[in-house]
Amino acid sequence: MSIEVEIKLKIRDKNRLIESLRDVGFQQGDLVSESDIYYTSRHHDFEKLDEALRIRSIQNLSTGEKSSVLTFKGAKTDKRSMTRKELETEVGDPKIAREVLESIGFTPVPSVEKERQHFYMQNITACVDRVKNLGDYLELEKMVDVEEEKTEALQELEEVLQRLGYSMEDTTRTSYLSMLMKHNHHYRQGKWAQNITRDEVFDEA
Ligand code: ATP
Ligand code: CA
Ligand code: CA
Repeated sequence: MSIEVEIKLKIRDKNRLIESLRDVGFQQGDLVSESDIYYTSRHHDFEKLDEALRIRSIQNLSTGEKSSVLTFKGAKTDKRSMTRKELETEVGDPKIAREVLESIGFTPVPSVEKERQHFYMQNITACVDRVKNLGDYLELEKMVDVEEEKTEALQELEEVLQRLGYSMEDTTRTSYLSMLMKHNHHYRQGKWAQNITRDEVFDEA
């Protein structure tokens, strides 16, 4: 099993944070653009269950390379972080994958779009995210295989967070999608009504 141990926080000064990440020992990785389609359905209430089903389309902004990933996330397993089960696999044709899900009663909600700059230090990934209509966020993540490793991994992330000049009080457990739903009425309506275009969704920014 894969468990995602993750913390997320809003950042004010992106360039300063990137400097701090380098000072702490992170190496810069790929800059990608990610477009996420989350699903909802009458027979499986993802929001209520705190689960997620998603198809992510990724474009590497340096090489232009494209890929797509199908993801299931389980409910968060603690009250402090965004730690949860995560199952991911690449899909060859995202259009077909969407059609499969939509043929069996899953409905897409308006997509979440962001640019994500990856940084790596040992097994820790830092993502500096510029989320369309939301702003800049940092995510620190470590993947572990068994429940027993969760606590230690979260401690490690907390230590990194402190070295970056932040603390757990600065973090949020709210997903990008939920933030967008709170701030943008298209997202709220779009949960059920799919007849708006992406441009209309982003007009409100
Ligand atoms: P990742 O860490 O996998 O790259 P991300 O950082 O882009 O993902 P997050 O904000 O960390 O995005 O997580 C996606 C979240 O969307 C999940 O926490 C999930 O609970 C939430 N979500 C999925 N579907 C819905 C829905 N229909 N309503 C509200 N929230 C949802
Ligand atoms: Ca995340
Ligand atoms: Ca993550």
